[in-house]
Amino acid sequence: MSDSKLIDPFGRKIDYLRISVTDRCDFRCTYCMDENATFLPRRDILSLEEIVQVASSFVALGTRKIRITGGEPLVRKDILFALKQIAALPGLDELTITTNGSQLEKMGQQLYDAGVSRINISLDTLKRERFEELTRRDKLDQVLRGIKTVSKLPFKQLKLNAVILGGHNDDEIEDLVEFAIAHKMDISFIEEMPLGQISHHDRAKVYISSDELLERLQHRWQLSLSERSTGGPSRYYDIAGESQQVGFISPHSHNFCSTCNRVRLTAEGRLLLCLGNEHSKDLKSVLRTHPDDADLLQQSIIDSLVLKPEKHHFNLDEEPQILRFMSATGG
Ligand code: SAM
Ligand code: SF4
Repeated sequence: MSDSKLIDPFGRKIDYLRISVTDRCDFRCTYCMDENATFLPRRDILSLEEIVQVASSFVALGTRKIRITGGEPLVRKDILFALKQIAALPGLDELTITTNGSQLEKMGQQLYDAGVSRINISLDTLKRERFEELTRRDKLDQVLRGIKTVSKLPFKQLKLNAVILGGHNDDEIEDLVEFAIAHKMDISFIEEMPLGQISHHDRAKVYISSDELLERLQHRWQLSLSERSTGGPSRYYDIAGESQQVGFISPHSHNFCSTCNRVRLTAEGRLLLCLGNEHSKDLKSVLRTHPDDADLLQQSIIDSLVLKPEKHHFNLDEEPQILRFMSATGG
């Protein structure tokens, strides 16, 4: 049971922090950023030491799980330094990362040695040309080699994440589940969220609900709702005869805000209280005006919780209300 000291005005206990360590990326996924994306100047990005300071304050306040994400977290120089320091924080149960997989062949073993226990790898397609269309990079083979590398290492859990866009990759959901099972990985299908303006497709037109995907998968596998809860937005299903699970993250069709246990630190040091709202607290200015004051940092984190909204209001028929992209958010 979590002993977090972070409780929001709606009584939700916050014991999970996601940290975006960079807004930069070696891919340009069509649903996440434009080809000509502009990135924050380096001086505006938290240093790795500052990131570790924030992580340490959260853990002191009862946070038990930290996920490192981005942008692409593994392109940040010296990221292993920060991972080792965070993994060693007394009281932290789990350090996990979300990655596009491009660096896993090279870094898989080092990540394991640094203390990362679970990895989520984004993979939306198994077709090379389609991969290039969706990520704007011809790197499917590199990602597949990375997946092979980590699947041989004793991580506690490996999971694939696939954003499904109707008419673009929904015909691959069965192949992706088969691929996950063959590599002893779980898989989650994600509904696209309206974060940032994109030019590649009309989000309302490609929307396909998790329920539709579930129904299709049930023609092939016997799926039953799992007891497992990650305290997160995924609903998981057991696959009869297999030890892997299929999950669905459904911000549109199944609002998960009532059980939200998380906050996000952006690469520029803003503590975002909700993925779908702009409520935030600028922790960078606290860190830079009072560099060694851990008590002040902790108090600023506690104070920020009054800003956590009750829920998000995503609407695909409107212009995106949230102008920041997922890459800038710590998705
Ligand atoms: N670069 C890493 C990766 O791709 O896994 C980590 C950061 S990425 C922003 C984290 C996750 O957000 C990925 O699984 C990606 O597919 C997902 N994502 C990005 N933009 C999204 C959007 N608009 N809606 C839903 N998921 C999105
Ligand atoms: Fe990069 Fe991840 Fe965004 Fe794709 S989803 S552009 S890999 S940050």
